[in-house]
Amino acid sequence: MRNIPLNEALVEARQTYAASRPRTQAVHEAACAHLPGGNTRSVLYHGPFPMRVERGEGPYLFDVDGHRLVNLLGEYTAGVFGHSHPVIRRALEEAIADGLNLGAHTVAEAELAALVTARFPTMEQLRFTNSGTEANLMAVSTARHVTGRSKVMVINGGYHGGLLYFGGGGIPINAPFPFVLAPYNDAATACRLVEEHADDLACVLVEPMMGSGGCIPAAPGFLASLREATTSAGALLILDEVMTSRFGRHGGGALAGVTADLMTLGKWVGGGMSFGAFGGRADIMAIYDPTAEGAIPHAGTFNNNVLSMRAGIAALAEAFTPDVAEALHARGEALRGRMNAVFEQHHVGMSLTGIGSLMTIHATASPVNSPADLATADDGAKELVFLDLLERGYYVARRGFIALSVALGEAELDGFVDAVEDVVRHRRAVLPSRLAAAA
Ligand code: PLP
Repeated sequence: MRNIPLNEALVEARQTYAASRPRTQAVHEAACAHLPGGNTRSVLYHGPFPMRVERGEGPYLFDVDGHRLVNLLGEYTAGVFGHSHPVIRRALEEAIADGLNLGAHTVAEAELAALVTARFPTMEQLRFTNSGTEANLMAVSTARHVTGRSKVMVINGGYHGGLLYFGGGGIPINAPFPFVLAPYNDAATACRLVEEHADDLACVLVEPMMGSGGCIPAAPGFLASLREATTSAGALLILDEVMTSRFGRHGGGALAGVTADLMTLGKWVGGGMSFGAFGGRADIMAIYDPTAEGAIPHAGTFNNNVLSMRAGIAALAEAFTPDVAEALHARGEALRGRMNAVFEQHHVGMSLTGIGSLMTIHATASPVNSPADLATADDGAKELVFLDLLERGYYVARRGFIALSVALGEAELDGFVDAVEDVVRHRRAVLPSRLAAAA
């Protein structure tokens, strides 16, 4: 059913957005001549034309029309350091001073690998890539090779990169593996599917919390059930920790008490530079040892690029240590609780799910255990909240995703909660109602 007052409010909010962004609009129109839709990263696109940023500083972004925004999107988790963390900056300046594009083994890659294995219990041995997408493609291909099987089980609505996108069941340009789709948090069905496909199932690829799918945490026992089912089917369990590696002290798998056969990393672990890594059991990763008989080559010009390696060392050893990660985790838990209280107090049918410093605003107050639970949520309500928050100087993802950075102080977080409350007061009449949903 169309919500006419909501649609009218959206038209007005889009007009307000456009009216104060003439330069943004002009740059967008020029970009459209060379980039399809003026865009090179679909997840950042939003109507009527996307925000365009000139620079960042600490927890702030400055757009080309001179607006200052508190950045709560945190580069979809890669930007956990904010925009000018002194430790990251120093590491990059030192790397530049020592010369770029060295094209040889370096000390930095060995140091970073040691830090990664110390931080994440599943990682006995690893290899670096340039992105999380590439890390997942490598992990899945590794599993298919070592098991001699072809099928890959993923979660319906999951996201593992540009070629591994399963929103709405998948996209036509996905990597051409035979996929089996399982529902999130339905251990009985997922394990039955593992068993059914056991003779040709290479791996299960799953996130400890669905990130892009809506910050939906794995239910207690879900990952452990998959661990058990994959072991008895002779398939590998791959945890995609590209987003969840920031959870607790040792990442989302460790927090859930599950050790995978392989895991993947990306985002913040490269200190905010292009980064990915896949690894896990040493006996599996041994296929990439060039001295081994029948070694599999794994190449990549930028796998050990000095900017990612040196920034990654600074990130793991100094800027985002287990103590820092744990503190940010706790701040995120508190923030999510405060925002949920705001929606509840004002009887608005919206809510946030998530773990620690990652969360998503949903246009429903009903429990969200899988992407299917979001099928009837009103996306217009999320767009309205997104545009209204921008007008108040706060930037979250258009889809409601929030990833906190260590640069955000209490003043910014308090201000954000106040801004959400102000939006809710102002728009209560057109946002979904908690009372109507309960009736
Ligand atoms: N896996 C997960 C869980 C992600 O959230 C993402 C990116 O958002 C990726 C993989 C892909 O990483 P990248 O964007 O570095 O290719």
